[in-house]
Amino acid sequence: MKSISILMMFFAWISGSAQTNPVKIFESDTFETSKGPLKITFIGHGTLMIEAGNQVVHIDPVLREADFSKLSRANLILITHEHFDHLDKKAISLISNPQTIIILSNSCKGLIDNGIVLLNGEQKSFGDWEIKAVPAYNLINKRSDGLPFHAKGNGNGYVISFGGKRIYVAGDTENIPEMSKLKNIDIAFLPMNLPYTMTPRMVADGAKSFMPSVLYPYHYGETNPQLLVDLLKDTPIKVVIRKLK
Ligand code: ZN
Ligand code: ZN
Repeated sequence: MKSISILMMFFAWISGSAQTNPVKIFESDTFETSKGPLKITFIGHGTLMIEAGNQVVHIDPVLREADFSKLSRANLILITHEHFDHLDKKAISLISNPQTIIILSNSCKGLIDNGIVLLNGEQKSFGDWEIKAVPAYNLINKRSDGLPFHAKGNGNGYVISFGGKRIYVAGDTENIPEMSKLKNIDIAFLPMNLPYTMTPRMVADGAKSFMPSVLYPYHYGETNPQLLVDLLKDTPIKVVIRKLK
């Protein structure tokens, strides 16, 4: 009798703690590189984490998507632009230590202490990692005042190279002409929500202009990602859907 009641108390404690402090389980995929496995964790919306070679790279960490006090400290943090769903000072501080390198877009200049601004076209190496900032902006989607949601030169996409693998995280952008100049992209993340970024058709056209091996739609809000799978079904691009609303 006694052991049963202890067991019941134990389950009550488990379920109670699950209610008050839910631990979100994230999906991840692992890729082989010349320097060992590279794991990408899909945290949500525009937020990603990459782990390889005992290093951790956080991209656009925001507390809306995860409790960053429970995630690994960053060697490198990449911020695409200043919007609240991409730049979150509190999340950055939770995963930073004095050695953490923080890469910022032009529009984040001065917003984060010790951040390094990379302008569109600039690149930097950090150990086994090479980071190149590429343009991210709107061509047609504009606010009611006529200004684009994302103006050219403000935000960054990033091409991240590690062990011969090249990952393109596009940031908030449309299928701009600069995308077609990207070479040898193994893994791409393209945003797919209106009015801020792209329709599935625009994502498909953008992807076809540089032909990544694997394409993850991300930052897709309420857009049905299956539409993108259908649009690219006759191409060699492998579209993979993860929970990145
Ligand atoms: Zn934005
Ligand atoms: Zn955004």
